[in-house]
Amino acid sequence: MNFDRIESRFDLPRDIFVIAYNRRFIKKTEYIFSKYVPQLISNPLFFTLPLVPSGRRIYDEVWASAHVLLKPNSRFHRPMTRWWERKNWREFTQGSKGIFSPFVLKAVDKSGYVCSLCHWMKKCNGCIILPTDAPIFEEDLIKKCFIAIEWHSKILAENYNPVANEVVEHASTRKMANEVTD
Ligand SMILES: [Zn+2]
Repeated sequence: MNFDRIESRFDLPRDIFVIAYNRRFIKKTEYIFSKYVPQLISNPLFFTLPLVPSGRRIYDEVWASAHVLLKPNSRFHRPMTRWWERKNWREFTQGSKGIFSPFVLKAVDKSGYVCSLCHWMKKCNGCIILPTDAPIFEEDLIKKCFIAIEWHSKILAENYNPVANEVVEHASTRKMANEVTD
């Protein structure tokens, strides 16, 4: 079958479907390669992105869903408190300027633990997705559509909203339940 001919008859999708795993690093008591290992936490998030998103768009889209993990009074709900919103964000990626707060996005495979861009021999747990204004076209990233939301462990511990993983009830059903029990 001639794939090119089939492809030319269909439009490519305008949106891509992305799965984002919440992740943090924990310290291992016994280790061989690395003292810290990533650990998946909470539920994965699902959302759509344009086919060729800018890095910044990916961050903003993830934040729009992921912010619920933080307490309502967390300072990160205020604008310009997230590292990717800063003009000098590149300094963060060079390791010279503080930490990625509250999280950094990384390209991972479907396991959520392994980089989708590097060879496995490199033991990379995910290359950083840069919050560029220009569209990024990481072909592998777009094809695989998995992202790790790597929370800063200490920030998450201090700001975590314990009700974030409870089932979110719609106001109308909550009202009905109250009426039944009242
Ligand atoms: Zn990598």
